[in-house]
Amino acid sequence: MEIARTVDELRLHSDAWRALKRMIAIVPTMGALHEGHLSLIREAHRQADEVIVSIFVNPTQFAPGEDLDAYPRDPEGDLEKLRAAGVDLVWMPSVQEMYPDGFATTIHVEGPAKAGLEDTFRPGHFDGVATVVAKLFLQSGANVAVFGEKDYQQLLVVRRMAWDLDIPVKVTGAPIIRESDGLAMSSRNAYLSEEERRKAPALWRALNAAAEAILSGTAPDQATREARADLETAGFEVDYLEARNAQTLAPIDDPSSEPVRILGAARLGRTRLIDNIPLRKED
Ligand code: AMP
Repeated sequence: MEIARTVDELRLHSDAWRALKRMIAIVPTMGALHEGHLSLIREAHRQADEVIVSIFVNPTQFAPGEDLDAYPRDPEGDLEKLRAAGVDLVWMPSVQEMYPDGFATTIHVEGPAKAGLEDTFRPGHFDGVATVVAKLFLQSGANVAVFGEKDYQQLLVVRRMAWDLDIPVKVTGAPIIRESDGLAMSSRNAYLSEEERRKAPALWRALNAAAEAILSGTAPDQATREARADLETAGFEVDYLEARNAQTLAPIDDPSSEPVRILGAARLGRTRLIDNIPLRKED
């Protein structure tokens, strides 16, 4: 497994692979890897010959006061997992390598980035994501990129950005990997106390309760309002819990005639959890 720490080192490998007509996949991560990340790597191996995993805690997607400094880091453990997963190259740039002195360019995203979900509670977040992901695409020259549906709005934002900027990369989504009690795996779950960890799957249960209510005829607004109230009663501070069109993130007109995603974000103590589910398997 190769480890690149500069853009030049990364390009040495990716240029050679491209010359050999090898298909390249990239899996962008912020490290502290878990089974969710490993599932993306398996999907990348299915789609490409060479798999690059990037590990970069991107400061520009954190707002002041968010958890940039506390974000879990485990580079040695990560490298061990990536070796076992058969990854070909790990791209681990420093902040200085990604954002050299004088760096002055930001990609500003709208469309799905302005859906009134994550963007309302994390202003500027998706501009930071789009900028770093565009850099990762251009640095690696990857043909395929794999993102988790865990960050569903991010997946749509990145797909739109690559399309709008004519970056020739296919952006693939992969399903959410969960703990046995339903909690979506996340590096941030490490922040949860024992008691919070016991409560945490209530977010996933609330999404499911809203889905069941919508499927049995309750209006989406009412179904999500009730699920939100239940979560608040259970001690969560809910940022949003909404049913949206799965392709556009627009509000739902008629749940029976469009693909629907139910998305939620809530804080439990100092930990912010996000999750989402499709209304039906095929959504
Ligand atoms: P992160 O390291 O949290 O920035 O996540 C890197 C990638 O892994 C993103 O595309 C996430 O959506 C994805 N991811 C994180 N958690 C999960 C999970 N539980 N299941 C599937 N994908 C995930």
